Amino acid sequence: MNHQKMEAPLIDPFGRAVTYLRISVTDRCDFRCQYCMAENMTFLPKKDLLSFEELAKISSSFVGLGTRKIRISGGEPLVRKNIMTLFEQLGHFVANGQLDELTLTTNGSQLKKYAHKLYEHHVRRINVSLDTLDAQKFATITRWGRLGPVLEGIQAAKDVGLKIKINTVAMKGFNDQEIPELIRWAHGEGHDISLIETMPMGDVAPDRVDQYQSLTELLSQLRNDWTITSSGHKTGGPAVYYDVAETGGRLGLITPMSHNFCESCNRVRLTCTGILYMCLGQEDCYNLRDAYRNGQDMNLAIREAITLKPKGHDFVIDRELGGISIDRHMSVTGG
Ligand code: SAM
Ligand code: SF4
Repeated sequence: MNHQKMEAPLIDPFGRAVTYLRISVTDRCDFRCQYCMAENMTFLPKKDLLSFEELAKISSSFVGLGTRKIRISGGEPLVRKNIMTLFEQLGHFVANGQLDELTLTTNGSQLKKYAHKLYEHHVRRINVSLDTLDAQKFATITRWGRLGPVLEGIQAAKDVGLKIKINTVAMKGFNDQEIPELIRWAHGEGHDISLIETMPMGDVAPDRVDQYQSLTELLSQLRNDWTITSSGHKTGGPAVYYDVAETGGRLGLITPMSHNFCESCNRVRLTCTGILYMCLGQEDCYNLRDAYRNGQDMNLAIREAITLKPKGHDFVIDRELGGISIDRHMSVTGG
């Protein structure tokens, strides 16, 4: 029996229930995707990271306050040493019904090694980022990555029974022409696929202004060849879903730049050093690590943090700003 005291749910100043926690467990990565990181990144000192015990304790407070879903992200979450320890601890919340879902966003490079363990720790669905099926282009966009191990990792995840969603950042002049092939491949493998617009986060090498591909535009191009209809599917997240009749699969579009999805936002993001960001596209944050280490009441600290949640983001990809709207890299908050 669960003896935890019933707490009132977390409701932000705009009446939105906060039920989804995303945790970036490391800012490090074995890739250097051009839109995400600069080639020479300075990472946080390892001593500043929250331990798995601290992450699990803070997560437990969120669960007590009504969080139903936790996503582990990064940087690349599967490169943090002994990361399965955290999955094991958080997996218990799924096993005892306190969480609906424990999930992961990964670049797939380590999936072959970990797919089985993830399933064992109650993960059932994962997101894998993949921007191209061309090995040469893959090496170019990820700078340090190799396509082969990622495809093997995706296959291993499928083999153990994990449901997979492919996330693809659509980039003009890079993979816009390849998108139909990626969709056909993903649907043929039984995976969902979501396309993402480049977001103006962090100072990275290529010029985002030229790279930005509007998904509204891309959708109308896809409609020249395919019958694409609105899907009733909803996850409470930013993606709008469509069904593609010809492939029999589901296509998500995440359009932060051309369509504002903040009205239904249910999430907050914890960094690996314990800073809680209330919005991907704003600076509002709260230091939960200090609160935890100073022995503060975590429920009160989290409630205070949630009062800072802004109404929404106002991303702009502006040439004068060099394509940067938020200084933070995506790897700090995990997307
Ligand atoms: N390393 C893991 C991965 O690549 O899936 C997890 C972290 S990564 C920061 C999470 C997601 O953010 C990935 O799907 C990646 O493509 C996306 N991403 C990173 N930088 C982005 C940007 N500037 N605009 C849009 N998406 C971005
Ligand atoms: Fe690493 Fe993911 Fe960023 Fe690529 S998108 S550099 S895999 S954190």
